[in-house]
Amino acid sequence: MKLHSKILLGLIVGLIAGIITNQYLGSGAQPGLEFFISNITDPIGQIFLRLLFMIVVPLVFASLALGVANLGDMGTLGKIGIRTLIYFLVLTVIATFIGLFLVQVFQPGKNFDPAVQARLMEVYGEGSSEVIGRSKEIEFTIMTFVNMILPRNILRAIVDMQMLPIILLSLLFGIMLTKMKPPEVDSMKRGLTGLNEFSIRIVDMTMEIAPFAVPCLIFGVSARFGLEILKPLGMYVLLVFTGYVIHMAVVYSILLRTVAGVNPWKFFKAIKPIMITAFSTSSSNATLPTTIRVSEEDLHIAPKIAGFVLPLGATSNMNGTSLYEGLTVLFIAQIFGVDLSLTQQAMVVVMTVLTAIGTAGIPGGSLPLIVLVLQTVGVPAEGIGIILGVDRILDMGRTVVNVTGDVTAAAYIAKTQGEPARFD
Ligand code: ASP
Repeated sequence: MKLHSKILLGLIVGLIAGIITNQYLGSGAQPGLEFFISNITDPIGQIFLRLLFMIVVPLVFASLALGVANLGDMGTLGKIGIRTLIYFLVLTVIATFIGLFLVQVFQPGKNFDPAVQARLMEVYGEGSSEVIGRSKEIEFTIMTFVNMILPRNILRAIVDMQMLPIILLSLLFGIMLTKMKPPEVDSMKRGLTGLNEFSIRIVDMTMEIAPFAVPCLIFGVSARFGLEILKPLGMYVLLVFTGYVIHMAVVYSILLRTVAGVNPWKFFKAIKPIMITAFSTSSSNATLPTTIRVSEEDLHIAPKIAGFVLPLGATSNMNGTSLYEGLTVLFIAQIFGVDLSLTQQAMVVVMTVLTAIGTAGIPGGSLPLIVLVLQTVGVPAEGIGIILGVDRILDMGRTVVNVTGDVTAAAYIAKTQGEPARFD
């Protein structure tokens, strides 16, 4: 059996076992189950996750710096950079519109039962206060952007795994390498190649334990996740997933066939390990090592392109997140009976796109940012409590859309550089 089939099987087993356990034990915290999850399944899942996280910084640094150094000249880098950013922006906007279209047409928040609304807000009140608290720490000033990209202390940024400064440092390193002369530049490049190779090997090793770790991660989520919560929010959850499917099956497929020149079916088959890792970790950052490895080894995307586009994508290209954010803000507005004017809706689009770009690639990374959008258009922030119970399952889906979008971007850029992705 191929590794990705084993991982997929593990995912299905974990999911079914979790759902059955939950059905059998009923919702609400069960001491025995909690003990099993926190002492058995969570630790196994965390070993897998942490091995992946451990390798993100060296892998991004080596592959991005080497990628830029191998691109050779600044002109090519500039062209690729601008194309990549425009692609990210256009796709984020398209995803937002899909979400808004669905929520406007089906109006899942109209006539929402007030008793259910009150109960959900009460049950998840603590969670929403915590999310609202986190949102208060975010401000949008010019200095915020400067700090986000160029912190005072680069080592602290690395320790905290803030991706934008790490990307900037790697870019600068690569750019400076193009200006240096042999023999120094050769030994630097050899060192980076070694670091890259080392990181990829760690990823390969980590993926070997995925068939055991993925079911553990999924079991923990699905056993705690009562299916009960799906009843009142079923329509909303269904719409969000419909949006994800439309974005992947229609938008990505068309782009893959037209601008990236690859067969979408073969593409999705090849990136299965990426999608499964994203689904089970809910984190673009944790998936990044797998994304880079599969893109380079199975799609044959040149490392100089994968190393450049994928880390940028994992940090700023979040199509699933923007789709989900726009849909969720309007859903909560509908529940509260807040009628948004056209200007306010335009505001939702702009804010959703900006906040999706700023979302951290971690589980629940977009939640505090949704609170900001809610507040901007005058919807009570506590409303976030209504969807908190189903957020994890939606997060699993949106992370898949997010990382798939990054790989489609890499495939597109590869094509524009005359080295399209292949599957042999
Ligand atoms: N979990 C998502 C990701 O890592 C971010 C989000 O919460 O939307 O891509």
